[in-house]
Formats: sequence, C-alpha cells, structure tokens
Amino acid sequence: MTNQETQFTNVSLSDGTVTNILVSGEAITYVGTDSKITAEVIDCTGLLALSGFVDLHTHLREPGFEQSETILTGSKAAAKGGFTCVHPMANTNPVADNSAVVEQVLALGEAAGYVQVQPIGAVTSNLEGKNLADLGKMNSSAAKVTVFSDDGKCVSDSLVMRRALEYVKAFGGVIAQHAQDPQLTVNAQMNESALSLKLGLTGWPAVAEEAIIARDVLLTEEVGSRLHVCHVSTKGSVDVIRWAKSRGINVTAEVTPHHLILTEDLVSEYNPVYKVNPPLRSNDDVKALREAVADGTIDIIATDHAPHTADSKDCEWGEAAFGMIGLETAAAIAKTTLIDTGLIGWEKFEELLSKNPAKISGLSGQGQKLVSGSVANIVFFDPRTSYTVDASTESKSSNNPYVGMKLSGTVVHTMFRGTLTVKNSMIQEIGTKND
Ligand SMILES: [Zn+2]
Repeated sequence: MTNQETQFTNVSLSDGTVTNILVSGEAITYVGTDSKITAEVIDCTGLLALSGFVDLHTHLREPGFEQSETILTGSKAAAKGGFTCVHPMANTNPVADNSAVVEQVLALGEAAGYVQVQPIGAVTSNLEGKNLADLGKMNSSAAKVTVFSDDGKCVSDSLVMRRALEYVKAFGGVIAQHAQDPQLTVNAQMNESALSLKLGLTGWPAVAEEAIIARDVLLTEEVGSRLHVCHVSTKGSVDVIRWAKSRGINVTAEVTPHHLILTEDLVSEYNPVYKVNPPLRSNDDVKALREAVADGTIDIIATDHAPHTADSKDCEWGEAAFGMIGLETAAAIAKTTLIDTGLIGWEKFEELLSKNPAKISGLSGQGQKLVSGSVANIVFFDPRTSYTVDASTESKSSNNPYVGMKLSGTVVHTMFRGTLTVKNSMIQEIGTKND
C-alpha cells in the first residue's frame, strides 16, 4: 500500500459544507478548510463528496456464468457507478450456499481490487427452497456472511422461511427475500394489467409479491428476527411494509433504479431489454415507490444489476432472460427521480445509496461519515451535468434499458480504500498501485 497523500479541494459534503478532504494511505486523515501540502491535489469545485455507494443486490455471475459477467468486470462497472462495495447474490454455479463458494467470491473480489465484494449466501441448499444451507458456517467463514437470499427464487415454503429467520437471529443475520409467490406467477411475463391482456402476455399480479411480504413480516414479528425485502415493485407492497414498520417489525426494504423510472408501457415494444423480475409496473406504482423512498418506508436503493449475454436477451420476449444491468446508471437515476423532483435532499441520497445498505449488512468501513479516521471510500459526484445515456459500459453485458434516455448527475471520481478506481469518469488500472 502506498503512503501517497491526495487532497480533494473545494468539495461539498451532503450537508452542504464546502471543505477539503485529505486522504493518506487507506484513510481520510483530515476534513477541513486548511490546505495541506500533498503530492496530488484534485480540485473538486462543484462536486459532492459522498460516502462510497454500497449495493446490497448485485449479480456478478461468477462462478459459473462468466460469459455474462465476472467479478472483475462487475467490480469495474460498480466502481464506475460510484460503488465501493457490492453484495453479489448467491445464484451462481455452483450456488453460494457453503463456505467454500462464498470464500472464493470474497477472494476473487479482493484480487480484482475495485470494490469490496461482500458475498450473500443462499438461504437454502442449491436454491431449492427445501433444506437450509450452512448459514452459520458461512457467517463464521472468512467471508463473514450476514445477508442470506435465494434471490432469483422466493423462499416460498412458510416453514423453511420461519426456520431461516430463526437461524440467523442467533448471529444477527438477515434474510433478504425475493418476494414472488411461485404459484401465482407460473409463466408470468409482465405486470398483470389491461396492457398484459392487450399484449397477450401472461400477467404477473401485484399480489404475488404483496402476499409473500405480508406473510414474511408476520413471520419476522413472530420469530423476532430481521427481514429485508428485495426489489419492492408495487404500491401494495409499500403499504404492507409501512404497516409492518408502524407495528415495530424489524423489516427493511429496497427499490431498484429501474422500478423508480421505467413503467410497463415500455413492454409494448416487446423489446426484451425491458423484461425484468419483478416486472416493470404502472405509473401509480412508480409514484408510490418514490414517495416510499422519501418517507423512509423504503430504506435503500439497490441495483439488481443483472447482466445477460446478447443471446439470452436478443430473442423473442417469451424466451428472453429476466434482468437488466444497472450499476453505472444507478446514482444518476436516483438523482433524476428523487433529487430533481424535490422529493429528497443529498443527505437522504447518501443514506439510500451508502449508509443504510452498509448498516443492513453490518459492514464496517463502508457507509461512514466522511470524517478524519474513516476509511477512504468516497464518491465524487457532479450534480450539474445532464446527458443522454450511451451503450458504453464496463460490464461484460450490454442489456442496458437506458440507452438514449436523458439522465442527470455524473460519477467523476471513485476512491476505494484510498485508491482512485475512477478518475475523471475513467476507470483506472489499479494493478500497479504497489509499484
Ligand atoms: Zn430478485
């Protein structure tokens, strides 16, 4: 590790303070208006410095699906998007349902070096929904897994879900549920609505999500455990979570950038780039989700970055894979939908993308206040820019639904543990940092 010092000058913090930030080695060593003599000075006039973003829901596809993404390419996409930590989901091949696989993912993340890769473990063995995976062993492994999810599939068996909640309670873990009643969504292709009837695509009813969330918050209350709800997509889900929180149930919830900005109308083109699980919903749902972020019912924004090869997306709607990439556009979508609309301010923005997700997974060194002594995980964000999204990406996949869309806000620099992974919006080669 180098002992190089970098000074970021004239930068705004989320509370509006304009200041200088000095980074030495891996840590922030000074925040204040004094100027220090350092090897490198980066003028950040007009930029915001925020705690590095933390994604609680990412698909990095390795091991097993390296044709779509690798831990290295996904880490670069994450850094480009301002992230300093991502939580890859367990639906790899082999499934991350044991210590060996989560430790492999952790090691590959460390080798890549662009972000902290903090694996999520499967709830059930091979994501089959039947027998609990080795949750305790994954927690006590080198990967220190605290978040467990069968994401991609729902833990639909109530008894299995109850046992999982009981099991993680012992060590303060959390179950992150992909809420989708499998019986109500057999062959489902898009939001169930007048439009799905018109298009002749099998509908995916809102209640398939809402009924699972309602059951799970009640199980969580009964067990006295912790639940996190992945990718909330409907107004009814928001109502259930709001009720659960008012009752004191220990539940947190996430929304994806795409559910904050895209609607089911896009499906009319039958372009599979808009095919996603859960599906794009109505305008009313989008409005309810944005309001739920603003009032705290939804705690975090998580990308559900889901890379797929061209082959699995450039085909008929019914054959296409579910999912879209999203690490590089997440912050701009959050800014466009929540800041530009006046729903939230920058402190809330920082909570949604950094502090709250770090808190949910119990990370140290992420989601911290930018003060002297903190690990230097920082994103420098330009709130003044607006631009049309193009197809360029660090991801290995190109299933980007935002190409051609106008967004605002740009990640300019990302610093991970004192190393600039992105500088002037360009990914840096960091393999030579020890030279
Ligand atoms: Zn999911």
